[in-house]
Amino acid sequence: MSKGLTSRSDDYSQWYNELVTKADLAEHSSVRGCMVIKPYGYSIWEKMQAVLDQKFKDTGHSNAYFPLFIPKSFFSKEASHVDGFATECAVVTHYRLKNDGNGNIIVDEEAKLEEELIVRPTSETIIWNTYKGWIQSYRDLPILVNQWANVVRWEMRTRLFLRTTEFLWQEGHTAHATSEEAQAEASQMLDVYADFAENWMAMPVLKGHKTANERFAGALDTLCIEALMQDGKALQAGTSHFLGQNFAKAFDVKFASKEGKLEHVWATSWGVSTRLMGALIMAHSDDQGLVLPPKLAPIQVVIVPIYKGDEELNEISEQVLIITNELKKKGISFKYDNRDTQRPGFKFAEYELKGVPIRLAFGGRDLENNTIEIARRDTRTKETISREGLVDVIEKLLEEIQENIYKKAFDYRAEMTTEVNSYNEFKKVLEEKGGFIAAHWDGTPETESKIKEETKATIRCIPLKNKQEEGICIVTGKPSKERVIFALAY
Ligand code: AMP
Repeated sequence: MSKGLTSRSDDYSQWYNELVTKADLAEHSSVRGCMVIKPYGYSIWEKMQAVLDQKFKDTGHSNAYFPLFIPKSFFSKEASHVDGFATECAVVTHYRLKNDGNGNIIVDEEAKLEEELIVRPTSETIIWNTYKGWIQSYRDLPILVNQWANVVRWEMRTRLFLRTTEFLWQEGHTAHATSEEAQAEASQMLDVYADFAENWMAMPVLKGHKTANERFAGALDTLCIEALMQDGKALQAGTSHFLGQNFAKAFDVKFASKEGKLEHVWATSWGVSTRLMGALIMAHSDDQGLVLPPKLAPIQVVIVPIYKGDEELNEISEQVLIITNELKKKGISFKYDNRDTQRPGFKFAEYELKGVPIRLAFGGRDLENNTIEIARRDTRTKETISREGLVDVIEKLLEEIQENIYKKAFDYRAEMTTEVNSYNEFKKVLEEKGGFIAAHWDGTPETESKIKEETKATIRCIPLKNKQEEGICIVTGKPSKERVIFALAY
């Protein structure tokens, strides 16, 4: 076992990088900004995907797949969209290599594409170009489609999971007959994300609107969920956009309404990415390693035998089989680690690092006493209990751990949310404490940009169902009707 992790208080960023690699979640690849997601990391992502996918289907969506390449001309059709993504696009210009005669492989200049292709950074353009052929009348609406895919955004500063050049995500793209219906869809999907974040990831999130400055390129409204990490920085964990008729107009997608009038279609798009893995890691883990919510842990229970000699191991294994059969019946995932190549202490540290919620240790004395040692990862406490009714105890404990880590994150966020009433106070809290800062703002992009330039803090969101409260902007003193949430962000 390699030596322990850097502690969070010493260097949070270093702690995160070490944890991601040591817990076998992902590693840097030889391609700048791109990561390799390792099997253990991928198995958590698969669990996330499975839950989200079911939620999308339960709300009436179907999966489809669109091309990885988007003709450059499609991109230029929606002006603000192209502006937003132009600086981070990978462009395919040629389709062939050749040998230059000296043994070097070079790009064949004769194989130049007539029209360059963009590797999708998001798929609105190719999808709306396709929807044009699918939509004629109101009977063809709504279209409720989701795509699981990889996308490429040429990011300058990357971090494993949180911001990578290529990332995995899902993108929903829906088409509607009315503005109201599209807006309802965008807020429904935000609720789906918030439910997933809170009830599966055990991570409390703030739901809100982005300001105009932070809006998705091409959207009329961007809804988001914002989470707070343990270093007091915010992370945007998911977005849901109301796109109005922008893409329908750009791609000339019209439908004949019930009244026989030709109208442009209304659109939404919404996405979450492998960034959620980063959020999950940062929200709960400690200096010993990952802390995973039981509902997303690939292994919920690990069982480690502690034995002298093969005979005792066999006896223990027989008893363990009774336990694992019961776990199987309850749908609780487990691993029996009877490897004889590693000592129990090594195994304990490994599962702690990997965030397995419950560890059972089964020793020789437990054979005689009908007992077992049960340890929980979140509190790092353990006790020896009777094996009578063990699986019921495990089932309850998994629920308790799920609730406990949510509560811990919730309490932390409450403690780290501060209301301030002056710019000086704002700067002081930002520097000394961090977290979410609720302050009055005059609603202008200029003031927002000034605050960002001077302090690096951004408006994370204007919370939904915000308390209306008369106040004055902390910078300009102009009137404001509600507080918005500022933070330093990833
Ligand atoms: P957007 O299409 O910009 O609204 O982003 C959709 C989702 O992808 C959001 O949840 C973002 O947090 C996430 N995301 C955006 N850029 C990246 C990136 N470079 N790496 C990982 N996730 C990202």
